[in-house]
Amino acid sequence: MKEKTRKQKDFFRPLAFILNPLSLLLLLFFLHGAAADSGDGNGAVIRVAIARNTPRFTLKTSSRVYAIEVRTGQKYMLLERSSYEIKYISPSRLALAGATLESPVKLMPPDGGGKVNLNGRFYKGELFIKTAADEKLEVIEQLSVEDYLYGVLGVEMSPDWPLEALKAQAIASRTYALKNINPKKDYDLTDGAEMQVYNGASLVNSKIIKAVNSTRGSVLAYKGKLITAFFHACCGGHTASAGAAWSGDSIKPLAGIRDPFCSNSPHYRWNFYVAAGDLLAFIQKNGSTALKIKGARIHKKDRSGRTRAFRFATDAGSVTVAASALRRHFGASDIRSTFITRVARLRGGYEFKGKGWGHGVGMCQDGARQMALNGKNYKRILKHYYPGVTIDDVK
Ligand SMILES: [Zn+2]
Repeated sequence: MKEKTRKQKDFFRPLAFILNPLSLLLLLFFLHGAAADSGDGNGAVIRVAIARNTPRFTLKTSSRVYAIEVRTGQKYMLLERSSYEIKYISPSRLALAGATLESPVKLMPPDGGGKVNLNGRFYKGELFIKTAADEKLEVIEQLSVEDYLYGVLGVEMSPDWPLEALKAQAIASRTYALKNINPKKDYDLTDGAEMQVYNGASLVNSKIIKAVNSTRGSVLAYKGKLITAFFHACCGGHTASAGAAWSGDSIKPLAGIRDPFCSNSPHYRWNFYVAAGDLLAFIQKNGSTALKIKGARIHKKDRSGRTRAFRFATDAGSVTVAASALRRHFGASDIRSTFITRVARLRGGYEFKGKGWGHGVGMCQDGARQMALNGKNYKRILKHYYPGVTIDDVK
């Protein structure tokens, strides 16, 4: 019986190489027909860049994974529970455990059910490793929008938040994702806070699955078109208009509203102290020749109360600088918003007092949480934060 089995295996070779992470070991190996199927009936597919701007990275496998050259179909097997170094070689080639592969390379668990661990996070979708501009690599995960949302909710909110708030977030995030689909680009979304945070298949619990599944296919539209459903941690009492935050027009759902629901949030008020020398370096970077700051005040606010510009009195005259530049310079975790209500001179520096956390456009997550705790359902939450929207079915 054994002899016969071996002969059968020989008949199917050569199909794959095994890549050993320590020394390059090439072995012929029998493969079962591995079906590459991302169409799991979950609707639209999205491409998320989960790594980019890196010339090398480490891939950790939890189960066996195939690395497949997309053009040639050549398969390599990566062993389970191993670390693989992946490096950029040339515009069309990359190195994987010392072997040279043609870009792009697709990673696929053999049974379709395994997860790939990349830099400490698990992914269930189809992963593609590609060479990119400037001698960098990018890794793009392709998965259904619904599966993607499982990996967004736990980090953009928290798995233990009220279900109605998670449902509101699922619809906002689904809308945001679909609005960003762009076949002309290498990928549709990144996985960081500049878009919406996505952590792969980690931090998923039954509540998150329920929030996504029970709102499946629901999106936010205005006058028949998907809106860019922005959201943020805490608005500080009034959401911002998209137009004021990023210039341009604001449609009604993104024009800003008064929000009474986030006043208990730990992010509702903040303050940040800047040493005089650091503030001077900031205004010098913005074109001032000053050597000393004599005073600072809020120069201009927008309709929501957010500061648009500061004016600094200096030994070289007065200087006006945008609040957005201040936030960029000192960082969004220190200058948490541009909703700055006061700047005061203190010993050796200046203190900025502000409200809320984030750009302030669209849904205020802490307010959504409070509305859900007050017994409001996801529709009420969404219609409060995006006035004028309709909640449509994408299908
Ligand atoms: Zn709020």
